[in-house]
Amino acid sequence: MLRTGAEHLESLRDGRAVYIGRERVENVIEHPAFRGAAQALAKLFDLKADPANADLSFEEEGERYGFYYLKPKSREDLRFRMNGHRRFAEATLGMFGRSPDHVASFVTGMTSMPEMFDANRAGFGANIQGYYDYLRKNDLYATYAVLPPQGMRNPALYIQQNRPVPSLRVVRETDGGVVISGMKMLATGAAVANEMWIGNIQPLAPGSEAEAITCAIPVNAPGLSLWSRRPITTPSAIEGPLTWRYEETDAMVLCDEVKVPWERVFVHNDTNLSRDIYYKTPGHSFSNHQSCVRTWVKIGFLVGLASRITQATGADKIPAVLETLGRLASLEATIGHVVMGQVEAAENWPNGFMGCSRRGVYAAINWMYENYSPIVDTVRELCGGGAFQMPADRSILEDPEMKETFETYWHSPQLDALSRMDLFRLAWDITSSDFAGRHLQYERAYLGAHFVVRHHGYREAPWEKFHAMVDDVLAEAREG
Ligand SMILES: Cc1cc2nc3c(=O)[nH]c(=O)nc-3n(C[C@H](O)[C@H](O)[C@H](O)COP(=O)(O)OP(=O)(O)OC[C@H]3O[C@@H](n4cnc5c(N)ncnc54)[C@H](O)[C@@H]3O)c2cc1C
Repeated sequence: MLRTGAEHLESLRDGRAVYIGRERVENVIEHPAFRGAAQALAKLFDLKADPANADLSFEEEGERYGFYYLKPKSREDLRFRMNGHRRFAEATLGMFGRSPDHVASFVTGMTSMPEMFDANRAGFGANIQGYYDYLRKNDLYATYAVLPPQGMRNPALYIQQNRPVPSLRVVRETDGGVVISGMKMLATGAAVANEMWIGNIQPLAPGSEAEAITCAIPVNAPGLSLWSRRPITTPSAIEGPLTWRYEETDAMVLCDEVKVPWERVFVHNDTNLSRDIYYKTPGHSFSNHQSCVRTWVKIGFLVGLASRITQATGADKIPAVLETLGRLASLEATIGHVVMGQVEAAENWPNGFMGCSRRGVYAAINWMYENYSPIVDTVRELCGGGAFQMPADRSILEDPEMKETFETYWHSPQLDALSRMDLFRLAWDITSSDFAGRHLQYERAYLGAHFVVRHHGYREAPWEKFHAMVDDVLAEAREG
């Protein structure tokens, strides 16, 4: 089944407990903090459901499913998935990190190795397959919270202080399932999603078995509440075009005696496996390939914006500025080709699955961690003081005299006054607004701290091959 945008919006009217400070949000679809994200998601659902966009879904046994549920068996399948990620990212300018194709992708990847889950407890393999079936059949949007709260990496310290450990854990087992309580960070998009995946993407300290729970619950599960960070809003779409449409939202997840039925439990009491399911299946590379495609699209947007800014200021005729634009375009080509290479250098997985090159995925993410801020800084530099020359808002247009003054003095040989103002507002929104700040943070943290990303690169590198070149040349030299 492919849901429409309207159906997705309707599904969010389910009594979910979302808080902004002490305000409980009655209706996320209409609240200014979440409306933009809800509408952007509705657009993605409509795009996918449109019969004209057959490349965004596939047919299996008479049913159509979203592209991100395709279990890839060939490079052609991976190309199909990449095309879908690209089209979703283009529809949101790469601003949606956790679009519906992110979590669903790692669930799809995990279904390739049910035996890994069964090794934890018989039947957990069927659970992961059952959850995949449930998500795709109902075309649900799943988000996730897979980290203990910051500072909670060593629970022993809390216990020594005689305080309850805040990190989410199993507090009880029942015949029907497990009961979980505690807090998890940081669920992007959860306020406007249907499902919440709870897990552990970082190693757990020995003795943290109760925390080693991987499960899924509906966002409106009794006892689950989302505490939103400070929302980022703008008075109108034109004052903050990206903030208005793509404020993805982030929230801490709090569970108070939430009941999870056994069929939604995937890992229990195994500290190593709760992490391994991401890395020892193609799960992590599937979901992070989506992140890489999104990155590529976002960098393309920034390059386009940089060029438009220089056209507006007339700097586009200056050779040094052309060189800067050429450098930006080369960076965009670099990331684009690394992303395409992830498919071309695809890897075989057990049970006939294929996955993207993990080295390519982690290299692209490391690239983004290192290059996003400098690229944004270049756009900022090209703006000069442009944004600061603009009047506070469009109210000047309501006063005929002020409007005339504005149109007379603010226009440039390249552009009329209002078009300049709109362009610089857009540039401000991605370089300097609260929205921009959140994105700078996101692009430095979404896969973990930087050392975590580099560690993935280290783990996947073919050290034997690299070492052999050094050893061989030394051996030859010794032989003379
Ligand atoms: C905007 C945003 C959206 C996010 N969305 C999601 C989401 O959808 N789902 C989800 O589960 N998580 C999400 N996250 C969480 C994200 O994965 C974590 O922020 C990330 O893993 C880093 O963990 P931390 O914030 O606890 O930082 P910490 O682990 O506390 O690290 C902070 C910094 O301390 C230093 N540091 C810490 N430990 C070491 C060490 N051992 N060696 C060297 N330096 C160290 C590094 O400089 C590091 O960057 C999101 C985060 C952000 C900022």
